[in-house]
Amino acid sequence: MIILLKKNADETQVENLKSLLKSKNIEPHVSKGSMQTLIGCVGDVAHIDPSLIEALDVVESVQRIQEPYKAANRKFHPEDSAIDCSGVKVGAGSFAVIAGPCSVESEEQIVGIARSVKAAGANLLRGGAFKPRTSPYSFQGLGADGLKMLSTAKRETGLGIVTELMDFRDIELFNDVDVIQIGARNMQNFNLLKEVGSYTKKPILLKRGMSATLQELLMSAEYIMASGNPNVILCERGIRTFETTLRNTLDLGVVPALRRLTHLPVVIDPSHATGYAYMVGPVAVAATAIGADGLIVEVHNDPPHAKCDGIQSQTPAAFAATMEKVLATRALVSSWEA
Ligand code: PEP
Ligand code: MN
Repeated sequence: MIILLKKNADETQVENLKSLLKSKNIEPHVSKGSMQTLIGCVGDVAHIDPSLIEALDVVESVQRIQEPYKAANRKFHPEDSAIDCSGVKVGAGSFAVIAGPCSVESEEQIVGIARSVKAAGANLLRGGAFKPRTSPYSFQGLGADGLKMLSTAKRETGLGIVTELMDFRDIELFNDVDVIQIGARNMQNFNLLKEVGSYTKKPILLKRGMSATLQELLMSAEYIMASGNPNVILCERGIRTFETTLRNTLDLGVVPALRRLTHLPVVIDPSHATGYAYMVGPVAVAATAIGADGLIVEVHNDPPHAKCDGIQSQTPAAFAATMEKVLATRALVSSWEA
């Protein structure tokens, strides 16, 4: 349910309305737009009679929301949300590029790559310390040591860190992390979503599950938001289809589709979406042109010897060439209407 307020609504009346809603176990989310202020109601609104709310002096009208996601819904928050990642904004007109290796392999590797991607214009550093691998015999990541190496790279370059949390028991190791990634395989790990949402307000990069619908992706974002963390960035990384030539199938149409459904920023991962380094540049440019709020790109100094995802990793030189094209594209097409 959303409550549209009258223009010039009196502050005390708005506060009274919020208290009334809270007394009925409804969490009010006030969204002040340039044209109008509205209150999005999260909770069980079935027992609330809209005509009683509509009768109040400050209220212009009341609308029921059909979609099961509320806080993530653009109807609740008509303006785009910008998510602040330790000073780097993503969304609402701000575009950011996250780059780095699939996994942290050594201090020398992560610091070197951090320097190259920063020089090419990246805004944040990625690197997995805890890796979700299909095989238990594959490299699982350096864990806590990997996080320390990421911190060193952050100190050396000033780039904020984006890295994946697989298990909530590791959360205390993530103090120096700027953006917590929830990977595709954990998109519907509802306990992890609830735990992370109630523990921290750090931005969460939520990757779409490989067989998840957009509605399911938004419901997962809703879990994090309903637990208390509104700072969610959605990431499309391709889904599994009958096609096997590419690692995954990327439908860039999700960018305008999500823009209409939600106010949350959308980042594209051209590396996992395609699986091949030669496709990453063109897909990154296409994602930028269609209005993505950012990119997350895998970059490795020595892709043939990478411990994880070498085939899809760009070299620093290829990434720098991609960045030039991405930034030129961004200058041409900065936003599309929702
Ligand atoms: C990754 O970012 O390295 C990763 C494992 O991504 P995804 O969860 O999209 O597969
Ligand atoms: Mn990877």
